[in-house]
Amino acid sequence: MKQLLVLSGKGGTGKTTITRALIDLLQPEAYADCDVDAPNLHLVVQREGVPFESPYYGLDKAHINPQLCRGCSLCAQHCRFSAVVSGETHSINELACEGCGVCVEVCPQKAITLRPHVAGELRLFKENPVFSTAQLRTGNGNSGLLVSEVKSRMYKSVTHGKIAIIDGSPGIGCPVISSISGVDLVLIVAEPSLSGLSDLKRTLQTVRTFQIPMAICVNKWDLDKEKTKEIQTLSTEEGIPFVGTIPFDPAVVEANNTGKSIMSGTSKATTAVRSVVEQTFSLLMEGKR
Ligand code: SF4
Ligand code: SF4
Repeated sequence: MKQLLVLSGKGGTGKTTITRALIDLLQPEAYADCDVDAPNLHLVVQREGVPFESPYYGLDKAHINPQLCRGCSLCAQHCRFSAVVSGETHSINELACEGCGVCVEVCPQKAITLRPHVAGELRLFKENPVFSTAQLRTGNGNSGLLVSEVKSRMYKSVTHGKIAIIDGSPGIGCPVISSISGVDLVLIVAEPSLSGLSDLKRTLQTVRTFQIPMAICVNKWDLDKEKTKEIQTLSTEEGIPFVGTIPFDPAVVEANNTGKSIMSGTSKATTAVRSVVEQTFSLLMEGKR
């Protein structure tokens, strides 16, 4: 199964809109939302049915038994993360606790234990096409591990298939790195702006580390034609296929606000996105991996 990952160096580039267009046109057997900090693919693909839900356990968290605590503060003195809240009996700030277990070792009263901690929820639509997504709870880290779990659940649920499409998270952090591993092609949706160009360069650097083929498109290209030219020049210099430009189009905003696919319309953006999808599909299928 060929795996296509859609990335953007920053939020707000239209990555999820393009992902939905890819899903509408390529009809993959599976897709996943790996933007686990702020998933929104489920809002635009509007799946029917009830997903199979399960908790995602992140790092264990320390818990102090107030019946046993004598308030000696040894745990607070040794905690590198300032996660112990002092009082008559001490307690733990779960948002700060990293689950290292040092406090468990130093407590003379054996009042502290590490407990499993639910850091998010995983959701899986098993009917064809399979859709795997998740939501990390506020203040929880380790989103890279959650992204790996989202992908793993998607793969395990597809017995056979030609294409899987993955909506990645913005930026170059841990969840992006987790989403890159094992894919066949990364489509980068760039924004024609100074920060968009800078973020694009960082994304290219990150993906290049994994030696995965890339393609670049520019969304809302006509908002800054000079920057769009710079991005095209960059892709030529870097030897990365440039698969097209999509103009700013109020019809896209309208489609997003009403939950419709831009591919159901006939606007100028629709035509441009279709061309981007066709070129991306060709690159994906001709890839040697
Ligand atoms: S080390 Fe143990 S007894 Fe001392 S304050 Fe911490 S939890 Fe309470
Ligand atoms: S487990 Fe580690 S981070 Fe958490 S409260 Fe104990 S010492 Fe601090």
